[in-house]
Amino acid sequence: FLSLSLQAKMSRPVQARRLEGIDKNIWVEFVKLAATYSTVNLGQGFPDFPPPDFLKEAFVRALSRENHMLHQYTRAFGHPPLVKILAQFFGKLLGRDLDPMTNVMVTVGAYQALFCCFQAFVDEGDEVIIIEPFFDCYEPMVKMAGGMPVFVPLRPKAPKDGKLMSSADWQLDPAELASKFSERTKAIVLNSPNNPLGKVFSRGELELIADLCVKHDILCISDEVYEWLVYDGKEHIRIASLQGMWDRTVIIGSAGKTFSATGWKVGWTVGPNRLLQHLRTVHQNSVYHCATVAQEAVAQGFQRELEHYGKPDSYFVQLPKELQEKRDWLVQSLDAVGMKPIIPEGTYFLVADISEFKSDVPDVPDSDEPYDSRFAKWMVKNKGLAAIPLSAFYCESHKNNYNHFIRFCFAKEEATLKAANDILQKWKREKTSP
Ligand code: PMP
Repeated sequence: FLSLSLQAKMSRPVQARRLEGIDKNIWVEFVKLAATYSTVNLGQGFPDFPPPDFLKEAFVRALSRENHMLHQYTRAFGHPPLVKILAQFFGKLLGRDLDPMTNVMVTVGAYQALFCCFQAFVDEGDEVIIIEPFFDCYEPMVKMAGGMPVFVPLRPKAPKDGKLMSSADWQLDPAELASKFSERTKAIVLNSPNNPLGKVFSRGELELIADLCVKHDILCISDEVYEWLVYDGKEHIRIASLQGMWDRTVIIGSAGKTFSATGWKVGWTVGPNRLLQHLRTVHQNSVYHCATVAQEAVAQGFQRELEHYGKPDSYFVQLPKELQEKRDWLVQSLDAVGMKPIIPEGTYFLVADISEFKSDVPDVPDSDEPYDSRFAKWMVKNKGLAAIPLSAFYCESHKNNYNHFIRFCFAKEEATLKAANDILQKWKREKTSP
């Protein structure tokens, strides 16, 4: 009996090779830290305020309606009312007729949309260009699909006249970008507005990327989850609307970001059927389906927004207005203590320079861990304030080039932002009066 049970213990390796090197994840670590220490959490990207009433009410209505079929499976590639309204809404934005059944697919958050894209398009050895800093899951997702991520950084330019830096000061070097395209390039991932910097790519920058996509005949995976969160009158331009791009672009969106309901995990893809048909294959053979009730509520949310499109009471007008005030408040608060903010043009993130605080958290020159990561951990434990190190948004070999910044999320209630300000002010006072 004993020898049998010894035999039964597995000794062969259990991990699939595709998971090698991607098992560590920054979020697991930082979410745990924020939960362990009593913190003001400006780390992970989610609002601590509720979604709009019309959306919550739509969910409750969907739950309690006579139609109990809303508790059952719906169409695998998207609940019909949701794909219909998304086709109508994005058709209007893109100025083209969209077929709800073939040009739209609903996913479990934008996260699953990304997963479907990499699984559907990337073969062993294919290269995928990723612009740094990037939403961290792109890299492991490309690798899991057997692909090779190729990184190209946004390079910061010093602002003029001692002004604060803006996310617009972080730019691609056109020659460097062009040099990354090769015979093996299959796709580029574009994320505008960009997490973590808040950069909103200009028309000129998008045209540069689009021209290279057309020239090299490659796909564009366009992560536009922050499409409504743009400030100072800036415009979010959809790369799919540029010459030659519709046919090669998958647009990715998220109800989590759009309606401040990240826990619902409703996302979507919009694009030509020639591309979406392959996303449907991955979706069909992985998650198959997303929660029906949440899809129904999001459909009603979009219906409401279509009726209020461009009007002052549209949520897509109100939310950025409110967030811009929060952004300005945090910019001012960080600037006052000398944690220099990079003013974001979009998203609900703000990256700040921690150089002036370096003496509080001494450097360990030979450590493998980037300085900003140690700084962020120290700050959670010692100051009760959570933020995410910018190096988490860079590939391994570039992490140490950008290791003196941390990212704050400002989609937070006034009280949360004030509590963060109090911590920073107190810290500053302790620094100046020994
Ligand atoms: N893309 C980006 C750039 C994001 O920041 C996020 C969420 N942080 C996602 C995709 C995932 O969105 P969802 O919550 O809808 O899966």
